[in-house]
Amino acid sequence: MTARSILLTRRVLPFGYNLQRAIPVKVFIFMLCTLCRSSFCSSKRDEVRLAEEASKKYGKPEPTIFSKIIDKTIPANIIYEDDKCLAFRDVSPQAPVHFLVIPRIPIPRISEAHDDDAPLLGHLLMVAKNVAKKEGLDEGYRVVINDGKNGAQSVYHLHVHVLGGRQMRWPPG
Ligand code: AMP
Repeated sequence: MTARSILLTRRVLPFGYNLQRAIPVKVFIFMLCTLCRSSFCSSKRDEVRLAEEASKKYGKPEPTIFSKIIDKTIPANIIYEDDKCLAFRDVSPQAPVHFLVIPRIPIPRISEAHDDDAPLLGHLLMVAKNVAKKEGLDEGYRVVINDGKNGAQSVYHLHVHVLGGRQMRWPPG
């Protein structure tokens, strides 16, 4: 073996790694990341597709801060996610436990949901229930959806509030 071929086949990387060994490791890490990304998170392309679907269905919804939480361009304390929705802690909690469940598709508000959104809306409630259980809200909790001006909705991306960990009062303000 010539010195040149040794250099080509066994080029030594900065941290003492052999190039021949490092390439399969990189390929393995890349495949692992791709697998994790496709099974646990939706990719940026999915978000674009969902936004396009939403604009056909609900008019052109304005992107909100929740769209940025979905595409992970701003941080949030995410406690659950799947291919249809995610749950994260409210940044301004009104109870010891306060989290939001939002669909990935940007439905602006509950009053604009369509009949064929029924399975998704049911899914949001089941996720709210399952996450509430994981959060230890065994004594009960409140589930709220604010709609529009009179409902005091401030973010126009449909979300389910789940509040618990203290005694709630009725009627709400
Ligand atoms: P609503 O008034 O029903 O539209 O609720 C919007 C909720 O979103 C409020 O409770 C806010 O505290 C919450 N919120 C706004 N921005 C964020 C954020 N970046 N991360 C988590 N929660 C947020």
